[in-house]
Amino acid sequence: MADPRGFLNYRERELPERRPVAVRLLDYKEVYERREEDKAALTRQASRCMDCGVPFCHNGCPLGNLIPEWNDLTWRDRFDEAIDRLHATNNFPDFTGRLCPAPCETACVLGINQPAVTIKNIEQSIIDEAFERGLVAPQPPDHLTDRTVAVIGSGPSGLAAAQQLTRAGHTVAVFERADDIGGLLRYGIPEFKMEKRHLDRRLDQMRAEGTIFRPSTNLGTDMTGEELLERYDAVVLAMGATIPRDLPIPGRELDGIHQAMDYLPQANRTARGIAVADQITAQGKDVVIIGGGDTGADCLGTALRQGARSVTQLEIMPRPSEERPESQPWPTYPMIYRVASAHEEGGERVYAVSTAQFEGEDGTVARLVIDEVDMSQGRPTVVEGTRREIPAQLVLLAMGFTGTPKAGVVEQLGLDIDERGRIRRTDDFATDVPGVFVAGDAGRGQSLIVWAIAEGRSAAASADRYLRGQTELPAPIAASTMQLLAN
Ligand SMILES: Cc1cc2nc3c(=O)[nH]c(=O)nc-3n(C[C@H](O)[C@H](O)[C@H](O)COP(=O)(O)OP(=O)(O)OC[C@H]3O[C@@H](n4cnc5c(N)ncnc54)[C@H](O)[C@@H]3O)c2cc1C
Ligand code: SF4
Repeated sequence: MADPRGFLNYRERELPERRPVAVRLLDYKEVYERREEDKAALTRQASRCMDCGVPFCHNGCPLGNLIPEWNDLTWRDRFDEAIDRLHATNNFPDFTGRLCPAPCETACVLGINQPAVTIKNIEQSIIDEAFERGLVAPQPPDHLTDRTVAVIGSGPSGLAAAQQLTRAGHTVAVFERADDIGGLLRYGIPEFKMEKRHLDRRLDQMRAEGTIFRPSTNLGTDMTGEELLERYDAVVLAMGATIPRDLPIPGRELDGIHQAMDYLPQANRTARGIAVADQITAQGKDVVIIGGGDTGADCLGTALRQGARSVTQLEIMPRPSEERPESQPWPTYPMIYRVASAHEEGGERVYAVSTAQFEGEDGTVARLVIDEVDMSQGRPTVVEGTRREIPAQLVLLAMGFTGTPKAGVVEQLGLDIDERGRIRRTDDFATDVPGVFVAGDAGRGQSLIVWAIAEGRSAAASADRYLRGQTELPAPIAASTMQLLAN
C-alpha cells in the first residue's frame, strides 16, 4: 500500500496546470503544462490511494487497470515496475491517460467523501516518464506462427488488436482507408487534446515489433471481402462507427453546414502543416455547433484557434447538475456538468434548445432558428414563444454516429448489421463467418477509446484462439458484459 496516512494528510486533488487560455489559443499544442514541481504533487496524489480491499476503481475501468498497484509503485518512485503493471492491461496508456473520461475516478472509493485520487494523471505521468527513461521498447515475438491476420481500421481497437496478435507471433497487416494511420486518434481528436507525436511513437514501436501498416487502402473497394478471406487466416473488423447523425430540417442543403468529421480532419491536417485545398474554416465567422458532447467541444476549441468571431454550442438536453444526481450514485459514471479545456477558452453553451430550421443568403447559411424545449417527458416539447435566431455563417453538426455502413466489406463478407447499426457478433467477438472478428465502435456502437482498446485486446484473444486452438492473450471481458457495463 502507498502511504497509509496519505489520504488523511493530503485531502485535495492536485493536477498539472493548463496553459493560460490566451497562450494556448495561439497554437495547437496540448493544453497541459508539465513542470518539475508536478512530480512532488504526483507522489502526494499516489500516496492518497488506500489500496482498497475491493478496489472499485479497478472495476470502473473497462480494461481492469491494476490501479492500486501502480499507485503504490509511483509513490515508491519505481517507475520501471509501474509501467509494467500499466502495460499489463493497457497497450496505450499514453492515449487513455490523455483522453479517457476516467470512469475509474468516479468509481474511486476515496470519492465517497473526498475528491477521488487523480488516477488518470498518474497513468499519464507513468507512461510519459517511462518513454523519457527509455523503458518502452518494442516487444517483437520470439517466434512466428505461419498464420496471417488482416485488421481493418487503424483506430485504437484495431491498433490494440494488431499489437496483441503481432506479439503472439502472427503476421499482421493493418488496412486503413485514410491516408494515415490512427483512426479517430489521428483525424478526429485535435492536437490540443493529444499531440500526434504520441501516436507516431507508438506506431514506430508497432512497426519495430513487426506490424505492417497499409494506409490509403479501402477494404470493400481496393480489396473485396472475398479476397480478404482468401489471403488471410483471420480478419478483425475494427472499422469504427462512421455514419454521422444528420439533421434533416429545412435549409439543410445550404452551403456552410458541415458534419464535424468533415471539419475536424482538415483542421488536424493543417495543424500538422499539411495544406488542405478549400479548407472549411471558422476564421472570422459566427459558428454554431449542434451537439453538446466531446466532438462538439473539439469543434469549439478548433474554431476558436482558427479565429472564429463567435462560437455557440447548442445542446438539446437541459444543463446537467454540478453534483451527482441521486439516481446516479457512487460508483456509477454520472451525467454531470463537465468543463472540457475548450469550454474554458471561449464560446457559449446553450442548453435545452432545438433547431427548427437553417436560413440562408445567396445559398449559404446565415442564421439558425431555434426553440427552447422541455425534456421533462423524455422527448423534446417546444416551449411556445421562445423562438429566436442566432447568426451563423458556419454550422457544424456534432450529434453522434449511427453505426457502421453495411455496403462494402461488411456486405461482401455476408455479415449483418443490427438495429443499432453495429456489426452483429457473438460474445467472443466472432461473427457467423469463421475467422472474422469485430472490435471497437464497429461492434459496440459509438463509444470511448478505453472501450476500443479493451475490445481490441479481447477480439485478439478470440482470434488467437481460433488460429492456434488456445491463447495466452488476456481478454479483459466478454462482448455482452462490455455492452452491459456501457449501457
Ligand atoms: C471528434 C471525436 C472526439 C472524440 N474524443 C474522445 C475522447 O476525448 N476520449 C474518448 O475516450 N473517446 C473519444 N471519442 C470516441 C473515440 O475516438 C472512439 O470511440 C474510438 O476512436 C473508436 O475506436 P475504433 O478503433 O473502434 O474506431 P475508429 O477510431 O473510428 O477507427 C476506425 C478506422 O477504420 C477505418 N475504416 C472504416 N472503414 C474502412 C474500410 N472499409 N477500409 C479501411 N479502413 C476503414 C476508418 O477510416 C477509421 O480510421 C471521440 C470521437 C470523436 C468523433
Ligand atoms: S478505489 Fe481509489 S483509493 Fe481505492 S484502490 Fe482504487 S484508486 Fe485507490
